[in-house]
Amino acid sequence: MFQATNSYIKFERRLSVSEQQQEQNKVAVVIVAHPDDAEFAAAGTVAKWVEEGWDAYYVICTDAAGGGPDEATDVGLAARQKMTETRKREQRAAGAVLGLKDVIFLDYPDGLLQPTIELRRDIVRVLRKYRPARVICQSPDRTWEPFMAIGRYHPDHMAAGQATLMALYPASQNPWDFPELLNEGLKPHKVKEIYISGAPHVNFFVDISDTMDKKIEALMCHESQFIGRTEELAKMMRSRVSDLGKKYWVEYAEEFHRTENR
Ligand SMILES: [Zn+2]
Repeated sequence: MFQATNSYIKFERRLSVSEQQQEQNKVAVVIVAHPDDAEFAAAGTVAKWVEEGWDAYYVICTDAAGGGPDEATDVGLAARQKMTETRKREQRAAGAVLGLKDVIFLDYPDGLLQPTIELRRDIVRVLRKYRPARVICQSPDRTWEPFMAIGRYHPDHMAAGQATLMALYPASQNPWDFPELLNEGLKPHKVKEIYISGAPHVNFFVDISDTMDKKIEALMCHESQFIGRTEELAKMMRSRVSDLGKKYWVEYAEEFHRTENR
């Protein structure tokens, strides 16, 4: 009887230490395919967390070389390189608006992203290095309701979502996965909370009424994507995010499928 009680206490103590470590580890990592994806999906949430004392990082999986205008006729190497430089600069500027600690570019070819073992390993490397308690990622699945918004189903987005979820479990927390990372000194890390944007099932919202202006300001940094229609986009964004807010009885909201990794 005494032993059972004792082990129960030990178990409680272990949980408590783990909780404390989690509390100290106020680090959030957002993993998406392209510059501007995170602004559309979650910049208000990220700005809010930063204001609450979280260290936030973005991980952009592609080199964004294919993010030029639809009417472009020169899509050669030089044009692609220029686009990469422009979009990285814009993403860093948006990061500065939000107060990010850093933006990490994995530089996979834009438009060709696949949930490969290599991408999974690169994401695990980031997770083990920065050791976030929270991760925001894109959905690997399409949402058919209330309507099929085709622009949302960029294959790079789904690949980034798939690779991230596969990196989160079990590879990030399992020393037996990617032993080469252990050799790099990167110890296993368990991410506690996962926020999936654009998921078929949504179960969580963040009230971003206080950080909506920052979301718009960060989005506007991606000038190359909205040439001549920045005003229109800002208006559209406010209206869309306000509609989401109405759903939750707040002014502005971002929504996710949130899950805990227990
Ligand atoms: Zn995108």
